[in-house]
Parts: sequence; structure tokens; C-alpha cells
Amino acid sequence: MNGKMRQFWNIIEINGEQVMFPKENITCPICSHDLLIHNFIATFTTQHSFYHCDVHCKCSFCGYYAVFGIPITKEECEELKKSKLHGKVFKEDLMKIYHNKIEYNKSYELIKKKLEYYGYW
Ligand SMILES: [Zn+2]
Repeated sequence: MNGKMRQFWNIIEINGEQVMFPKENITCPICSHDLLIHNFIATFTTQHSFYHCDVHCKCSFCGYYAVFGIPITKEECEELKKSKLHGKVFKEDLMKIYHNKIEYNKSYELIKKKLEYYGYW
């Protein structure tokens, strides 16, 4: 299962905690700044017997908010739910994730300043 969408999304570990994370940088369709992960929730839709992980992403510049629905297995759902980062709005964790995982043109400090400006701290 999982198919094409899982070619774009990956479950990674940050300090031993699982996170659904895009394999490529995502940019805002409105203003082209970076779309950063806001939080993620792994869940089961009873109506269609379907496990999925909803990843909420927010533009660091204009506030555009997007939700990605990624199909996952029952096992992945259970593991993601155990993560301490499950359902949590990212702040410092977001910095760790992006600092470690993505080679942005922007520096860590620049992203941090932006997030502070937009009320993340
Ligand atoms: Zn934007």
C-alpha cells in the first residue's frame, strides 16, 4: 500500500521520536516562501477503514495553511501515535528538524527570527 504519496513523504526520527516529513522542500503556492510543518496527526477513518497521517504545514511568511493527507499502515499509525511529537505544534522541535534535515538557503537563525516574528515563540 501507500503508493505515490509515500514517495514524497517519509517517516523520520528526531531524537528518537517519529515524524512524518516531506522528502523535498515545500514552498507556499501564494508567496513562494517555505511551507514548514506545523504538526501532524496519525489517525483512522472508520467510515473507510483507512489509516492516514494528516500533516499541517504553514507558510513562514504569509500564514497560508495546508493539510496533507498521507496514507499509512496500521503499524505506522500506532508508531506515529507513540511519538512525543504527535499532535504537538512544533517550535524548538521544528528548528531541530529543519536544521538537521533540509539544506535551506536560509540559515537556522533567519528561520528562527521569522518564526519569532510570526508569533511562534
Ligand atoms: Zn506564503
